[in-house]
Amino acid sequence: MLPPTTFALGKQGVRDWEGMRNLPKALRAELAERYRVSEFAEVTPFVSQDGSVKYLYTLWDGKKTEAVYMPYVGRRTICVSSMVGCPAGCTFCATGKMGFGRNLTAAEILDQILFAAHHQGHSPREIRNVVLMGMGEPLLNLEHVFTAVRRMLDPEALAMSPRRITLSTVGIPRGIYRMAEEDLGVRLALSLHAPDDETRKLIIPTAHRYSLEEIMTAVRHYYARVKRRVTFEYTMLKGLNDHPWQAKALAKHLEGLSAHLNLIPWNPWEGAPHQGTPKEHILKFAAILEGMGVPTSIRWSRGRDVGAACGQLALRQPA
Ligand code: SAH
Ligand code: SF4
Repeated sequence: MLPPTTFALGKQGVRDWEGMRNLPKALRAELAERYRVSEFAEVTPFVSQDGSVKYLYTLWDGKKTEAVYMPYVGRRTICVSSMVGCPAGCTFCATGKMGFGRNLTAAEILDQILFAAHHQGHSPREIRNVVLMGMGEPLLNLEHVFTAVRRMLDPEALAMSPRRITLSTVGIPRGIYRMAEEDLGVRLALSLHAPDDETRKLIIPTAHRYSLEEIMTAVRHYYARVKRRVTFEYTMLKGLNDHPWQAKALAKHLEGLSAHLNLIPWNPWEGAPHQGTPKEHILKFAAILEGMGVPTSIRWSRGRDVGAACGQLALRQPA
C-alpha cells in the first residue's frame, strides 16, 4: 500500500503530481510512481437542486464513503464521513442500516474536504466549516478523527477555526471524556433523540450499552471543563419521541448546560421503519422547549433529492 501523501500536499489543492509545476519533470515522474496524491480511486458527484453536492468516494480498497458540500450564502460547509457505514445501527438512519464497513484513515477524512474544494474551484482554505456528521460514529474512530481535525486546525495546513468544526456523536461517554481532555476547541453535538432510556433503546442500539445518565454525566463534565456550548440533536420521529411530555423531559436534561437544541425533521429513505413528525407538530414541540427556556432551532436538511440529507447517506445513487 502506498503511503498517503495528502497531508503534505493538500494545502495547495493540487490533485496530481503533473500539476506540481515547481518540481522538475523527472522528479514528478518518480514521485508519481512511488506515491499517490489522492485517497480516492474514483469520485462521483451528485448535484442537488438546492445547490448542495453529494460526493461518492471510492477508496483504494474498493469501499465507498460519502461527503456533502453545502454552499450557503457567505459560507461554505462540508459534511464529512468518519467511516464506511456505521456500527451503531440506529433504526432511523440509512447509514446505520448498511452496517459497518471500516474506519476511515485520517488522510481519507481530510481528503474528502480537499477533493470537494478542488472540484468546486476553491482552494482548500476557502472551505471554512466542517461538520463530522456524514457516515459513521466519529468517537468510535477517535484517533484518526483527532489526527484529521488537528490537520484542519494546523496553521500550516488548513488553518481552520476550531469553532467552525463540529463533531456529532450518538453518545459514546469515553469519547466525550477524551474530547474534554484533549480540548481541540471544536464544537460538540450530541445526538440525543429521546429524553428517556426506554425510547432511546428502541431506536439507538448503543443506548443499551450507555444510559442517558452516563452520557449526560460525560457531557456535563465536558461542559464544565471546556465551557463551550453543546448542541443537542433530536430527529423527530412520529409517535415515538415527539410527545409533549418528552419535550418537557428534554428541557430538564438540558438545564444548566447553555445548550442549543436542533430539531431535525426526519429524512425518509427506502425501507425505513419510521415516519417523520409532521411540520405543525414539530413547531408545537419546539414551542414547548422555547417556553421552558431552551434555545431551539429546526434544521431543515439539504440535498434530500440526491440522498444527501442527514441520515440518508447509504451509497445509493439518485434515480
Ligand atoms: N454518528 C453521528 C454523526 C453522523 S449522523 C451521530 O449519530 O451523531 C448525523 C446526524 O444525522 C445525527 O444527529 C443523526 O441522528 C441524524 N440522522 C440520522 N438519520 C437521520 C434521518 N433519516 N433524518 C434526519 N436526521 C438523521
Ligand atoms: Fe451511526 Fe449516527 Fe447513523 Fe446512528 S445516526 S447509525 S451513530 S451515523
